[in-house]
Amino acid sequence: MDVWDGLSEPWRACVQLAWEAYLAGSLPIGAVVADAQGNVLSRGRNRIHERSGEDGFLFGHRLAHAEINALIRLDYDRYDPATCALYTTTEPCPLCAGAARMSDLGELRYAARDPWGGSAAMFETVPYLRRGNVRVVGPADGHLEEILVALQVERFLHLKPGILERFLATYESVMPNAVRAGLDLYRSGTLKEMDVVEAAVRVVDQELRTVA
Ligand SMILES: [Zn+2]
Repeated sequence: MDVWDGLSEPWRACVQLAWEAYLAGSLPIGAVVADAQGNVLSRGRNRIHERSGEDGFLFGHRLAHAEINALIRLDYDRYDPATCALYTTTEPCPLCAGAARMSDLGELRYAARDPWGGSAAMFETVPYLRRGNVRVVGPADGHLEEILVALQVERFLHLKPGILERFLATYESVMPNAVRAGLDLYRSGTLKEMDVVEAAVRVVDQELRTVA
């Protein structure tokens, strides 16, 4: 089955947002808050490299992370966060792990590990996070993870082609195929020709099959 077709509604929204972030020049990371039935209640995406943005979202700042943007857009008067899940394409950083706990979310689901900044382990080691009610679930599915990481690597190469040795080595030790696919996509420039998310996901998927 096509990867995109196999995604549930919250994951589809997250990947769509990640692709929007990619197209806007930020990091391809998307997040949503959904209720127990999987209805999407709020959306956010990475906006760190953008100079403009819609009202109510953080943008143009190092802290304009996808998860923060999804969390600050949730209507807490209407929805009980303890019954909601934060879905994010990428394992949350310390900032976003803390934000999920402080927002009193019931669950945190991430699709792709982040061997560099991923901090899901904080929920096991930091007493304040352990005492919360956030159930952490991830990574979601091996193939979706590889697609998201390849996309991320490709974006990082565009942003900072020179400095990545240590960063890439960290990723490579955990997900070598995704890194190789990201490098190939960067060199070929194929993603630049993509506009809709389904096509982009298919291209990355094909690249992963080539390097596997
Ligand atoms: Zn974050």
